[in-house]
Amino acid sequence: MIYYSKPQFHNPWFLTLLLMIFWTGTLLPKLSAPALAQETNNSKTPKLTLELRNQIETEKNSAKFIYRTSKAQWDPARTAIIICDMWDQHWCKGATQRVAELAPHINDFVTIARQKGIFIIHAPSDTVSYYKNHPARKLAQAAPKADNLPPHINQWCSWINDAEKATYPIDQTDGGCDCMPKCPQHSPWRKQIASINISDQDAISASGTEIWNLMEQRKIENVILVGVHTNMCVLGRPFGLRNMARYGKNVVLVRDLTDTMHNSRMSPFVSHFTGTDLIIDHIEKYICPTISSTALTSQSAFRFKNDKRSKVVFISAESEYGAAETLPQLARQLQLKYKLACEVLQGSTNTQGKDRNNIPGMETLVDADLVVLFARRRALPARQMQYLKDYLARSKPLIALRTSSHAFALRGELPEELPEGLPEGQPEGLLQWKNFDTEVLGCNYNGYPHGETLVSIIPDAADHPILKGLKGPYQIRETMYHSLPLTPSCRPLLTGKCIDGSDDNPRYKKTDAHVPDEPVAWTNIYHNSRIFYTSLGSVRASFQQKWFQQMMINAIFWAMDKPVPEIETNTALH
Ligand SMILES: [Zn+2]
Repeated sequence: MIYYSKPQFHNPWFLTLLLMIFWTGTLLPKLSAPALAQETNNSKTPKLTLELRNQIETEKNSAKFIYRTSKAQWDPARTAIIICDMWDQHWCKGATQRVAELAPHINDFVTIARQKGIFIIHAPSDTVSYYKNHPARKLAQAAPKADNLPPHINQWCSWINDAEKATYPIDQTDGGCDCMPKCPQHSPWRKQIASINISDQDAISASGTEIWNLMEQRKIENVILVGVHTNMCVLGRPFGLRNMARYGKNVVLVRDLTDTMHNSRMSPFVSHFTGTDLIIDHIEKYICPTISSTALTSQSAFRFKNDKRSKVVFISAESEYGAAETLPQLARQLQLKYKLACEVLQGSTNTQGKDRNNIPGMETLVDADLVVLFARRRALPARQMQYLKDYLARSKPLIALRTSSHAFALRGELPEELPEGLPEGQPEGLLQWKNFDTEVLGCNYNGYPHGETLVSIIPDAADHPILKGLKGPYQIRETMYHSLPLTPSCRPLLTGKCIDGSDDNPRYKKTDAHVPDEPVAWTNIYHNSRIFYTSLGSVRASFQQKWFQQMMINAIFWAMDKPVPEIETNTALH
């Protein structure tokens, strides 16, 4: 990069050039302020750094997916935002209210994007003629015809492939009105809602051809979709996610700047907002990645005021025990059956690399009601660690599994290199939290014996809500941890006995190879935060066991200080 190289004063040619400029006084004005500034700006145009989230199938046709976040660096000049169908009126009253609530947030997002040089396309379908004299409308019509117009760019796309069709998650055949009584369907929209500003440099169009022409004219490769409704127009319109994805654009949905037409009285009988989450899941699996508006606004993600679900954030950051699979499965169960809002933050599952020390999305802890942590030996960028510390300082609860006793204690040196693409203004450096086990969880992690574990309820704790429905003992195919001594604020719930085990820990070898029993699940209070920790959960099979699932669900409700759910009758917890 020429603009950043240091002046080579030892180079005689460079010196000669400087002297020429100085003496003649002619070259200097040509290179001065405007020209130089412009060139410098171009070369320095900050890229957009985005954390793209999608879900990948662990094995083909297994229907098991794990989250994956990948970093993208997009040139704003090659990026467009399409605002889909943010109308002034909708036939559904609830939908109209939600659009009015969402629109100022889309406007904030778009205003920042415009300042960064991103091209804005307003696409209020069916109402474009309202804008026939608007410069932004004329700009769209004036785009020259592209020579690479895709064959079906002007058509609705119902499915991107058979796999998408076969797994569509909600029944929207009734139109998705969630109101009581149901709203009559008609077409009251006249224009885009006024709280989204339209600049003369933006474009207004809802035509697949026009929008494609606009994008080709500007060499736009990257498309960001916002607006409504995720399960209908955002996916299916000519300019929607499916067409943009299948015709080769790098397209993403802003997952918090959208809304779904989902009636909670239709399958799968979940809240309106869980309906949106399920569609976002579906998009991440089959269509394209999503991003959060945080990427541009640096504010926490938008949430509708009527979304009263408790929010559970799962942090999955380990590479050995399958947390990338087990935590999302637990999250899905809580979302569908227990009406919670769940978000999974997936760190790198690689055993090496600087991205190990990065958990994108930690700002979502700002309004979380519970954090479930399954992490192993990660340092975090200072700001990410601060989100966790601030969360706990607000007396918010934490559930931690297995390796989380050494979640933030690296083996060896702290790397100097930061993960790539952290937001601007990051405080320098990576942080560990080496005594997380003693300070927060109330234990002393000290390795583990080999052998399966027999888990028993501690009689004194049998009436604890987290153990509701559990009987035991249970034999599980995983090792327990040495965690003793526990701090006095801990209340042990389950104890483990090592079966046919051996121990290479010198501390226990001395005692005739006898492996002492250890607590394997307990509660603690950290400041005023409710803490539940279990040293179990290291194999996928444990999460398949009914008693383990029930314990986790009980713990989740206990941690949020809510009554634990009733156990379904005839459920044998073995
Ligand atoms: Zn309605």
